[in-house]
Amino acid sequence: MTHQILLTPGDGIGPEVIDETQRVLGWFSRNRNFAFHTESAPIGGIAYETTGNPAPDETIAKAKKADAVLFGAVGGPQWDKLPFDQKPERGILRLRKDLELFANLRPALCFDALKDASSLKPEIVSGLDILIVRELTGGVYFGEPKETTTLPNGEKRAVDTQVYTTHEIERITRVAFELAGLRSRRVTSAEKSNVMVTGVLWREVVTKIHKEEFPHIELSHVLADNCAMQLVRNPKQYDVIVTDNLFGDVLSDEAAQLTGSIGMLPSASLGAKQANGKQAALYEPIHGSAPDIAGKGVANPIACILSFAMCLRYSFGRVEDAQLVERAVDRVLADGYRTADIMQPGMTKLGTVQMTEAILKALDKLAV
Ligand code: NAD
Repeated sequence: MTHQILLTPGDGIGPEVIDETQRVLGWFSRNRNFAFHTESAPIGGIAYETTGNPAPDETIAKAKKADAVLFGAVGGPQWDKLPFDQKPERGILRLRKDLELFANLRPALCFDALKDASSLKPEIVSGLDILIVRELTGGVYFGEPKETTTLPNGEKRAVDTQVYTTHEIERITRVAFELAGLRSRRVTSAEKSNVMVTGVLWREVVTKIHKEEFPHIELSHVLADNCAMQLVRNPKQYDVIVTDNLFGDVLSDEAAQLTGSIGMLPSASLGAKQANGKQAALYEPIHGSAPDIAGKGVANPIACILSFAMCLRYSFGRVEDAQLVERAVDRVLADGYRTADIMQPGMTKLGTVQMTEAILKALDKLAV
């Protein structure tokens, strides 16, 4: 069996971490009875330089055909002054929109060896394993009107519109309940039903889907501001948190920080399952292109490698192989290997390539 993966390395450290992740793909091709067919396509700043478009139609078409997209990162200071529709970030936004990737999965997993790297006390984060399911294609980032006007007195007035339909809430809710069924069977829905009508609708729809389709999963509701507070007070009370685009943006970054480093965190964005079983999916590290360290060979490749583990789990149903990658990362950290961003006293510092080599060796050892 051959899985088709489109690689979109992008800018800055994107190509460095994608190159290393490709070596992990190669390990699975050599050691399992399935193979990956990979192809690379330009996105972001590099695509703008070569084609004049940060999100070329050809890349989007290839992404639609592939079983999964593995995305590096886009952006850099050299493109900061470009008009909005030519900025590198248009590349990821167009992929999300055109592939209708409405469900963003952001795990926050604290590897035991890194519990001291968190800004919270080790006992609060040790063993932490939560999943934030963020609605990605609706809400205030996309609602209309979205405009800035000038008032008669010369003042400016800017408007963003928070808007959700029943259908949009239903589909993200189902994703959250289905994923909770594979974990600890607990979902917490976060909104602001005390002050926002979209929050009232959100709570109504989540409650209805729970009652009708997932009564075996435990559901609780929390106001998003309280959720932000609880995440730093007692994050382990949560398993799956489902929330809208704006609150999800903020809460998932907060949860990310609990685990120590941005270089460790993967993500997945999924579309709806089609009648033929195909589901659009894009996997990416949550970090950006890190221009400050690009080209120095010091970037942490683990977030990207763990994004590939998510790809194994969610696109190819290979849960044991996904766990193998996660265990290999755990082993390497337990053995005291660190990249610069997660370096601690007494540990061995490795570059991007050497860290991948340590993970490949751990895969060899754990697979026997
Ligand atoms: P960033 O995530 O690129 O970097 C933030 C800090 O974390 C930097 O100090 C960087 O060196 C460090 N860092 C990030 N990833 C690391 C890794 N794998 N290993 C070690 N250290 C790592 O965020 P930023 O600096 O705010 O943004 C830089 C550029 O990336 C901007 O152009 C921004 O628009 C873009 N960006 C892109 C994406 C994306 O492609 N999805 C996401 C966020 C930011």
